[in-house]
Amino acid sequence: MKLLRIFTHADAKRDPDSLLRLFVSIALLSMVLITSGAGYAFFHLLYQNVIVSAEDDAVKVSQALLENQRKRILSADGSGSSVAVAPENLAELDDRLRKFLAPFDIVKIKIYSSDARIVYSTEAKLIGETDRGNKRLANALAGANDSKLERKEEVKDLADERKFNVDVVETYIPIRDHGRVIGSFEIYMDVTGYRRQSVNAGLLSLASLVAILVAVFGISYFVIRRGTRELKETQEVLRKQTITDPLTGTFNKRQIELIGRREFARASRRMEKGMSDAGSGFLMIDIDRFKEVNDRHGHLAGDDLLRQFAERIAASLRNYDSLGRFGGEEFLVVLPGSDPAQTRAVAEKILTLIRQNPFSLEGAPLQLTASIGMTTMEEGDEDLIQVLRRADRNLYRAKSGGRDQAV
Ligand code: GH3
Ligand code: MG
Ligand code: MG
Repeated sequence: MKLLRIFTHADAKRDPDSLLRLFVSIALLSMVLITSGAGYAFFHLLYQNVIVSAEDDAVKVSQALLENQRKRILSADGSGSSVAVAPENLAELDDRLRKFLAPFDIVKIKIYSSDARIVYSTEAKLIGETDRGNKRLANALAGANDSKLERKEEVKDLADERKFNVDVVETYIPIRDHGRVIGSFEIYMDVTGYRRQSVNAGLLSLASLVAILVAVFGISYFVIRRGTRELKETQEVLRKQTITDPLTGTFNKRQIELIGRREFARASRRMEKGMSDAGSGFLMIDIDRFKEVNDRHGHLAGDDLLRQFAERIAASLRNYDSLGRFGGEEFLVVLPGSDPAQTRAVAEKILTLIRQNPFSLEGAPLQLTASIGMTTMEEGDEDLIQVLRRADRNLYRAKSGGRDQAV
């Protein structure tokens, strides 16, 4: 839901930064999912592998044991062989078995007869006991191997040494005679070392995976970040293009009208509340006899003069005033918070700056003048159009009154 919101947000506002944030969220989420999924799979496999290989070892050991000690473990009776150890053989079996098992990681071994009685155990006190409720033993006596990994807080190994926190795989292995199950081994294999190695290998694989993911997402992040930066720059260029007049670099008509409407709304609110800086001034500026300049020097020269003209107006303004090209050689200035006196002062400053020095026409000086229609917002003004009409009427008066003046 959050992702969806980020996405629609990015889409709606077309903000490249939220696109980048979306990528980071997806990358982090993917990393967590991939790592935990892979981690689970790794460790599940390793765990299985530890059990399977310990069971394999136990089966081999039990086969070799049976081969080796057949006459001490099995006894023949009328219906075939059964698992039984004669009391006089017990000491010798124990001795041989311990020698035989010494090279293996085996901590305990039991031998059961088919009626679940322990006929031999490396833990001597268990011999003779019967383990009837043992389901896993029952499985083995029914003919199936049964293995389980367990952590033991403490075990005694075959050399009677205590070991702590040992991982043990307990395997029950059926003993068969001509296909018939006649008993079972129970072998405790110490897999602590093997398991630790496996866990280390798993952790190492997981660390490599994380490193690869970080590298891939990291590189992608920088590529996307560069892309979004370029996108932002392009957006900024486009945004500027949509609000500026390409010839003079001032606001275009649409934008200066928008600024004018906003200022009108702001000033109306403040006038209603009776605030002191409520007013705002508007100047409509038109170059005098510009057609003649164009006719005499050409349109390109006229364009160049227009640029210089706009620069001079801009130089007379405060940075919260706005200047826009309203028509051919006609400019609109919006003066927030200006009363009539301040508005007139700005207009006179502009006219002086235009009069003071000639403009440059391919290096040659050319004197220009302009006329200005001024107005400020008044009580009862309905909308911007009404205000601009008043400024336009005053501009007309300035023209008919001899030009080079502000009315
Ligand atoms: P007035 O003093 O009455 O304003 O006389 P004017 O000749 O300036 O009259 P008006 O403002 O009506 O004329 C506008 C002229 O400005 C017409 C056109 O030749 C010129 N003009 C308008 N837009 C451009 C432009 O983008 N580039 C150039 N070079 N000239 C323009
Ligand atoms: Mg003109
Ligand atoms: Mg004009």
